[in-house]
Parts: sequence; C-alpha cells; structure tokens
Amino acid sequence: MITPFYNFDKTIIEKAEKAEKICKEKFDELDVIRHYNSQKVLRAFSDNMISESHLLGTTGYGYGDRGRDSLDNVVSQCFGCEDALVRHNFVSGTHALSTALFGILRPGDTMLSITGQPYDTLLEVIGISGSGNGSLRDFGINYSQIDLLEDGSVDIEKVVNMCKGVKMVYLQRSRGYSLRDSLSIDKMKEIFEKVRGVNDSVCIVVDNCYGEFVEITEPTQIGADVIIGSLIKNPGGAIAETGGYIAGKRKYIELCAYRLTTVGTGKEVGASLGQNKSMYMGFFLSPNVVMEAVKTSVFASAFFELLGYDVFPKFSDHRTDIIQGIKLGNKEKLVAFCEGIQKGAPIDSFVVPEPWDMPGYSDPVIMAAGAFNMGASIELSADAPLRDPFAVWLQGGITYPTGRTGIMLAAQSMKEKNML
Ligand SMILES: *Cc1c(COP(=O)(O)O)cnc(C)c1O
Repeated sequence: MITPFYNFDKTIIEKAEKAEKICKEKFDELDVIRHYNSQKVLRAFSDNMISESHLLGTTGYGYGDRGRDSLDNVVSQCFGCEDALVRHNFVSGTHALSTALFGILRPGDTMLSITGQPYDTLLEVIGISGSGNGSLRDFGINYSQIDLLEDGSVDIEKVVNMCKGVKMVYLQRSRGYSLRDSLSIDKMKEIFEKVRGVNDSVCIVVDNCYGEFVEITEPTQIGADVIIGSLIKNPGGAIAETGGYIAGKRKYIELCAYRLTTVGTGKEVGASLGQNKSMYMGFFLSPNVVMEAVKTSVFASAFFELLGYDVFPKFSDHRTDIIQGIKLGNKEKLVAFCEGIQKGAPIDSFVVPEPWDMPGYSDPVIMAAGAFNMGASIELSADAPLRDPFAVWLQGGITYPTGRTGIMLAAQSMKEKNML
C-alpha cells in the first residue's frame, strides 16, 4: 500500500509487497499461536480472580501485597511452573539472571553452559572476564562451557559426558548476537531428557529472554527448573516500565527471592509502588504484542532476502524467539540500516544513532531504538556489534504496520546512500 506519509523508493514498495505475499501462510500460523497464548493468559487472570485491588500498589515494606503475589501466580500458571518472582525491582534481564545464579549456586558448585558463551553482560557476572569484583568465580563457583557445534546445535554427546555431578546446566534459548539458530522447545525437550538421564538432581536454567510466548509452550513445561527474562522484552508486553522475572520450581524461586531481598524475608517483602497495573496489563497484552514483533521479523526476513541478503532465520523457518539477524556485510551498511530503523521509531525519530562502547559489551555497538520505555527491545529496535560478520539483529515492533514501516525505512536509508 502506498500512503502519503513516507516517500519510499518504488523498488522498496514492490519488494515489500512481494515479501508480505510470501509471508501470508506464516502469518496465519502465527495467528494460531496468538490465539492460544492469549487464551492461556486470560484463563490465568480469571482463575486467579484478578480484580481492581490487585492493580493498586503498596509502599514501605510491601507486606501482603496482593497484586504482587497474585501476579506471581498468574505468571507461574501461564509458564506451567510452581512459582515465580515477577518484580519491577529487577533493573534488567541481566540482573534477574545474576540474581538467579547467585541465588542457586554455592561455593564449589559448577555451572555448565551448554550453549557456548552466555550473553555478553553475563561474562563479568560469572567471572569469565574480570576478577576481584564479586563475580561468581570470586565466590568459588566454577564455570565450564560446551561450545556449540559448527552447525550451531548443542553438542549433546559432550553434554552427556560433562553434566554428571554439576549443579547447574545453563542454556540460552535465543540466538543473542550470533547467527546460530535459537533453541526450539522441541530441541530443548530432547536435551533436557538426556541431561536428566545422567544427572537427575541437576538444576536446568534457561535464559528465556526474547522467547516468551513465541511458541505455545515454555521451557518450564518441558523440564527446565528455572527460566529467566526481562519485562522490557516479551512478557512486559511493551507496557511494563521496567523489571524482570524468574519462574520455576518453588525451592529455587525461594532461593532467588532470598538473594533479591534478604534471606528469610524473600518474597514476603518488596513494595510494588505503582507498578502492578503496568505489569499486569503488559503480561496480558504480551501474547499479542509478541506476535506483532514476530510478524515484523518474518517480514524483515522475507524482504531483506528479496533484496539479496543472508537472513537468519528465513521467513518460513520455525521461530522460537523474536530476533531477526541480517548479514549486511560492512560497518557502513550497519550504520545506514540503524539510522533508518531510528527514523521509524515513535520516540526520538529525529536522533541519529552512533556506535559506542556500551558497558558490559566487548565491541562497540550501534543501537537504534526509540521506545516508550527506555531501552525496551520488545519495541522495534536494532543492535549491531561492530565486528565480523557485520550483521544486524533486530527485534520488536509493538504493531506490525509500524514495524513493517521501520524495516522499509531501514532499506530506504541504505538506498539513499547507494548501498542497497
Ligand atoms: C536481553 C538479554 C539478556 C539480558 O539483557 P538486559 O539488557 O540486561 O535485559 C540476557 N540474555 C539474552 C539472550 C538477552 O537477549
């Protein structure tokens, strides 16, 4: 469709329309997931008898905060697990992940990552980089890692050999800043069964960032003990203003709560202030918003493939996170792409993004984002570390029509610099 609002190049409009046509079947599949997960969430609200009073907050210690406690129940029902810790007090996904690792692991324990190196911001938390700063390693917690195989899959044989006796097996569901496939629920199930076969007391932890509600099942329903994520990604539905969650087995959630607040008080304290309503509403909207984001990614995949680029995953591939990787090939294209995405943001569309040394990341990163909640990557955003293979990772899009427009503006920006 041509509108009077943006002056797209003719070829961009043609390719976008073609891309949308070939995505039709995929979009229909996504609608089925949208319906399924939306009903799941609605049922949980209803079963937990959420009322207006749950939406109000507490102050001070936050004893007996009904809204906070029931939200934990709604989330654990939807994720098919015993308990959850859903808190605005988590400052980020990294904080929730760090809380879980410090909460569950003890000196002498081993954490075994089986999806290669964890997300960049966790390297210092674990003590893979830096020391003497209070990392897990400083506290005598061991770390080992099994790299992914050449084709991006988990080295199951090695996992089976190495997971005996370890306290924690750790996986990252999403692709992060790599071009590997994300781990599907089916794949995880197979891995969990093998791991349990040799170590039935192991704690299986999944970094679930970007994965929530992309499939109809969550990792906790197929054998994961603990899953962790951010509320300015999928499960916050673009409404939650900040926060994160940890969900899973009750005994682990209690340990995590002891780490977040204090040993003994755990989940009993923590004023929700005015945050309950936005967390409830965001979680309620999440299955819908996540599918808008996935549609945006699917469109971007088809569109950029038509423009001649390698894309990860392809538009027709099975998805288990909201991320789309596009290999652009050089720094200049990354910058032009991100400038275009920025132009498609509702907030700060006039800003020109530049690469910078972001805390916690090892290479300069360029990020395009103009979000209602600062840094929210359930809203259309693109990140590109300036390193080989010069790929951009994009995610989010709280409505498909605006997400699609942002993607087209990225192409337009490249076109205007004769880079397309
Ligand atoms: C976003 C993300 C995290 C946590 O990052 P924050 O920016 O701290 O929320 C961890 N792991 C993965 C895979 C992520 O995508």
